[in-house]
Amino acid sequence: MKTRTRFAPSPTGYMHIGNLRTALYEYLIARAAGGDFILRIEDTDQKRYVEGATDIIYKTLKRVGMNWDEGPDIGGNYGPYIQSERKPIYAEYAHKLVDLGGAHYCFCAHKEEDEDEENNATHAKLKDPCKNIPIEEARRRIAAGEPFVVRQNINKKGTSLFHDEVYGDIEIDYDELDEGVLLKSDGLPTYNFANVIDDHLMEITHVVRGNEYISSTPKYNLIYEAFGWTPPTYVHVPQVMKDAQHKLSKRNGDASFQDLVAKGYLPEAVLNYIALLGWNPGDEREIFSLQELEKIFSTKRLNKSPAIFDITKLTWMNGCYIRNLSPEAFHQLALPFYDDLPSTLDFKALSAAMQPRIEVLNQITTETAFLKKVPEYDLSLYENKKMKTDADIARTALQLVLPVLKNVKYWNNDDLFTILKENAVINNMKNGQILYPMRIALSGLETTPGGATELAVILGKDETVHRIEDALIKLNGG
Ligand code: GLU
Repeated sequence: MKTRTRFAPSPTGYMHIGNLRTALYEYLIARAAGGDFILRIEDTDQKRYVEGATDIIYKTLKRVGMNWDEGPDIGGNYGPYIQSERKPIYAEYAHKLVDLGGAHYCFCAHKEEDEDEENNATHAKLKDPCKNIPIEEARRRIAAGEPFVVRQNINKKGTSLFHDEVYGDIEIDYDELDEGVLLKSDGLPTYNFANVIDDHLMEITHVVRGNEYISSTPKYNLIYEAFGWTPPTYVHVPQVMKDAQHKLSKRNGDASFQDLVAKGYLPEAVLNYIALLGWNPGDEREIFSLQELEKIFSTKRLNKSPAIFDITKLTWMNGCYIRNLSPEAFHQLALPFYDDLPSTLDFKALSAAMQPRIEVLNQITTETAFLKKVPEYDLSLYENKKMKTDADIARTALQLVLPVLKNVKYWNNDDLFTILKENAVINNMKNGQILYPMRIALSGLETTPGGATELAVILGKDETVHRIEDALIKLNGG
């Protein structure tokens, strides 16, 4: 049987890191087996519908290189791939399920929100009185236009047993299951029904989802059983957590793929990091491209220990990815972060200084603030024991280099460095006694991206001269 997996997001308007990880595992299972990866949009909860949300799903998957073989935009033999377009299919199967004894019609007055699976437990736990309505009478009432829902029958007693690839054999008491709504009065299915119908009709072989679905799995299995269908292989994965107690939620800022990318995390790095949230390759390696993952991924190495989203680790990994970029690729990614900087800067040189230094692109903003304006600093910054400098030496050094710099013909790092070194020798000074004060004068900072000559190149000749003149005024008590 051909392996077929599906990513089945609800269009919520953003891509939760946990959902992207589910997509990744589904994708990898399909690719590793030479199977198909299907995209299905689960939009049956119309109240939660967010305009443009489907586009975000498409864009995110494309951005990380997870191409799908069937989906709403490209079609396929098992469509439609948007649940709201499958309404007649669910209705047909819901009525069939009633005929097969797996469900019943219920006419109790509901508010619509009570029909969503999370909210209907109380009613369902009471064991629905409508279960006793003879089927002919129920059909008559439906034909007469009375609103109804279809509710699942949980008639079995004892424990249900099923196997999960990650959690092993799982037993759940049938008593714990509620007779929830499968088809709502608006004719749309709940998740609990739609996932079974669609996974079966789309011939899905492996279902990857968060472990919060484990407790409902016996209900799905009852539906498969009633229809005489085989359930898929279940792969439940631990939820992505912020820490031991808290789920990773959008509120704490790191749960959304788009937010991370906007901060300057590279999509490739995020994808690499989330692959390791619940899976390991069996050795010490940590850096993997999607293509490499496609070759080595196996559900056997998924584990059930809590997946804690460690932003420090992701940041480190992102730094590795940033350093691995070609200078030109880094430059292109850095450009948007230079928007507020003076246009006279040498941006290529700036990128060369930034690339080895930052771990997340948005650090560029703070790292380059001094290029707009020298920050206020104290003259004590010129004091440095190792460099044997202080404010007096700085004054001498800067007075000395100012005319020299004004005469430099080729404004590049090598020439500047050679010329300044020569001037140190001529004046019986150490290199550091010239370069250190110059670095402070150009930046007003103790640590800088690059040394004095690199800063001079980034700033350009005019601004360098200007900043040294300003520093001299300050050193002279101005
Ligand atoms: N639409 C469900 C969700 O977004 C999908 C769960 C599943 O993969 O079955 O949580």
